[in-house]
Amino acid sequence: MDDDLRRELTFLRDLGFTHLDIRKPAPSSSVVEDSEAKTILGELQAIAVVCEKCKLSKTRTQVVYGVGNPNADLMFVGEAPGRDEDLQGEPFVGRAGQLLTDIIKAMKLTRDDVYIANVIKCRPPENRNPEPDELDACRPYIRRQVEIIQPKVIVALGRFAVQSLTEKAYGITSVRGQWLEYHGVKVMPTYHPAYLLRSPAAKKDVWSDMKKVMAELGMES
Ligand code: URA
Repeated sequence: MDDDLRRELTFLRDLGFTHLDIRKPAPSSSVVEDSEAKTILGELQAIAVVCEKCKLSKTRTQVVYGVGNPNADLMFVGEAPGRDEDLQGEPFVGRAGQLLTDIIKAMKLTRDDVYIANVIKCRPPENRNPEPDELDACRPYIRRQVEIIQPKVIVALGRFAVQSLTEKAYGITSVRGQWLEYHGVKVMPTYHPAYLLRSPAAKKDVWSDMKKVMAELGMES
């Protein structure tokens, strides 16, 4: 079995598929040409929008899958949708999202230049913290999104994003600003924009982290 087929089957198994109906078109392999990434992300989204792998599927309005450039060099990964995101089906569109958009603009980029997603695709009720079984159930989606998009850098926003990607119990304060790695992609952990709304003094730390990201991507800061 070739590596791409093995990766695809592993992804489907991780999502809970126990058999494939080979009369239907199979999801594409993970060999991603630039023009294919959008199509493959769309196929993955079609699987995600009917996902019932965890209890959040019972309370969500919409699955919030991800938006942006399928070939982005830079990906922002947050925690989970809040109320606005659950209603609109798009990540980071509420107050914290506006702040993230401002950070992206300060980097002289737009939301369309980057890709934005969360480690959890459905809103936890009352915006409670994601639970371990929910993080586990959702992890294959972000893994596959990263495989397809192949960013050069991932900015992990907050504790849950860092912990879910790395599967390590890092505290955000102890790792922020230090490069980590996720399946060969550089990860810059930083504070979540919702934290910045409560603690604006920490914005300077986030900007210092973004300067490292820009330097890594060869951008002027
Ligand atoms: N917080 C997140 O982590 N993600 C969103 O999409 C919105 C708020």
